[in-house]
Amino acid sequence: MNRDSSKILVVENLVKYYGEGENQVRAVDHTDLEIERGKFTAIVGRSGSGKSTLLHLIGGLDRPDEGKVWIEGKDIFALKDDRLAEFRRKKIGFIFQDFNLIPSLNVWENIVLPLGLDNRNVEEVLEKIGIADKKDAMPNALSGGQKQRTAIARALVTSPAMILADEPTGNLDSQTELEVMSLLKSCVKDMGQTLVMITHDEMIAQMSDRMIEIEDGKAVNC
Ligand code: ADP
Ligand code: MG
Repeated sequence: MNRDSSKILVVENLVKYYGEGENQVRAVDHTDLEIERGKFTAIVGRSGSGKSTLLHLIGGLDRPDEGKVWIEGKDIFALKDDRLAEFRRKKIGFIFQDFNLIPSLNVWENIVLPLGLDNRNVEEVLEKIGIADKKDAMPNALSGGQKQRTAIARALVTSPAMILADEPTGNLDSQTELEVMSLLKSCVKDMGQTLVMITHDEMIAQMSDRMIEIEDGKAVNC
């Protein structure tokens, strides 16, 4: 079961196809990857190349047709659904383009409730992310940058093995984009976090330690 547990992430021969016959889409097509702890990896590639599908598989949000994903040496798809969900909650921090906040919960609740956390840590993370003064605010009273900071706080608060981000600055103006990026970069640097981020943006990709290009469901240049 343990395969190179020095690597935070190992992906082997991963396959995910949608549809059948001539309508079949090879979203992830026999992809291998290895990612080191404490690094910022950017995943780039044109729209429809399979980036989001790959990220969802890496995070155990979906199961592949073939292949394996090891996180900290654990074969995640060997886990049954409820154990995989638990693993995901503890080990993966997700950040999405559209923030995925629950509108009826305030900032604090958005961070604490989905994770079933006790309240330790949360204050500290809110301070670090710069939204401590917004902890009672409802999402619709926040700017885009504040919403994404809330999502970043939620992703960080469990000290996950990896943060997986899908175009996290795609809905932000360019100034806010820079602020959110420098925040994420400092999480990698100061907290030793591992960040895997999909981006369209060449400038953001250049901020990474390593770039992986996805082309027709395959990883190239890595
Ligand atoms: P990217 O994030 O690089 O834009 P995606 O991973 O979203 O690419 O999609 C890769 C391909 O798989 C696309 O052709 C997309 O239409 C298809 N696809 C993604 N999700 C589904 C799905 N749930 N059902 C059918 N096709 C899908
Ligand atoms: Mg996508």
